[in-house]
Amino acid sequence: MLGLKFAWVGAWIGALLWMGLDTWRAARLLRLLRSDVANLPSRGPGVWGELSERIRKLLREREQQTRQAEDRLQEFLAAIQASPNGVVLLDEQGRIEWCNQTAAAQFGIDAERDMLQHLANLVRDPAFVAYLASWNYSRDVLIDAQGRTARGHPVRLSVQVHPYAGNRRMLLTRDITALEQAETMRRDFVANVSHEIRTPLTVLAGFVETLQNLPLDAEERARYLRLMGQQSQRMEMLVNDLLTLSRLEGSAAPPANQWTRVRALLAQGEDEGRGLSGRLAPQGHKLSFSLYADSEIAGASTELQSAMSNLLSNAIRYTPGGGEVAVSWKVLPDGRGEYAVRDSGPGIAAEHIPRLTERFYRVDRSRSRETGGTGLGLAIVKHIAQRHGAELRIESTIGQGSRFALLFPAGRVREARALVT
Ligand code: ADP
Repeated sequence: MLGLKFAWVGAWIGALLWMGLDTWRAARLLRLLRSDVANLPSRGPGVWGELSERIRKLLREREQQTRQAEDRLQEFLAAIQASPNGVVLLDEQGRIEWCNQTAAAQFGIDAERDMLQHLANLVRDPAFVAYLASWNYSRDVLIDAQGRTARGHPVRLSVQVHPYAGNRRMLLTRDITALEQAETMRRDFVANVSHEIRTPLTVLAGFVETLQNLPLDAEERARYLRLMGQQSQRMEMLVNDLLTLSRLEGSAAPPANQWTRVRALLAQGEDEGRGLSGRLAPQGHKLSFSLYADSEIAGASTELQSAMSNLLSNAIRYTPGGGEVAVSWKVLPDGRGEYAVRDSGPGIAAEHIPRLTERFYRVDRSRSRETGGTGLGLAIVKHIAQRHGAELRIESTIGQGSRFALLFPAGRVREARALVT
């Protein structure tokens, strides 16, 4: 009986001790969970040990997932950073939450300092502010960005907002400076071509009307027909030059292994030059052709011929009769080949020189027209030069004449293989 009592007391004490120990371990786990999760014991005895182990595992998995998610987010942000377009994320109040470097540079904002600033306070372009406030983002808005292009033009931006996740907004920006410039150039070009064609057309229409309505004698008729012929020839030359330009733009790079003898190019130039000089001035010009090296050039021979003839014909056309035009070819010490045309003509003022190769840019409009110029000659020469890796160099002094030179890279110039004749 007494033994049974002791057994009961023993069992009670044991149960109490067990409960105490259990409570202590539960309290320890709770304490660790509250304060020091990282130091959860890796493995302990009993239920609490297993519980702690499972919690530890779960936490480790979560941590890994969070780290992976963070890594992926960083990758996304790095990809958006690398975008040539600007990206800005705005919160519901229109404050900057994040932006990439492109957008920061375009808007002149500091990606760190200006975080959570209202974008409309930082980009004050009225069109942009109105656009942002309108909540109508079906179209983009065009604004000037911070900074200027190399030519001093403002950088133009197209900005479009895309709302997401309720009232949050994403701004995408695109630098459209080059696009706008290309569009302006295209418009100018079409206007120029139309103007160039309309002038001779108007003259032709006038002559046709005269021939229809006036009784003319044979001599007058012949004179009118001659003038009409000149106008149609002018239009033909313009169309030919336009076709040459478009062919140059669309065709493959000139061959690097097709060699043309400079001697032959110069000889053909000489024939054409003497003919032109005779036609333009009764006394002609003092033309000289000097070949200091018997070389060959690699490239498209028709293009090379066209570029060289263009420079020579310009020198003859702009130099009054009796003047000098000297053509030369030589190989420079560094191996480059130089084709140069020097004339004793009127010369060109320095401010015009950088613009001479623009299409339809003329210094002396009437002289150009009188001598059959289209305003496209030097644009063609520059194009051909670029295609052959050559440089077009223009030096000129008013009243003393000009020197136009084409410098071919050493890789495209070699000594002539054929026998010198
Ligand atoms: P164009 O058909 O009018 O000659 P180009 O493109 O060949 O067109 O030349 C552009 C302009 O450059 C000419 O209109 C002329 O004013 C000027 N120019 C070109 N070559 C010479 C030169 N040798 N001497 C003086 N002016 C020149």
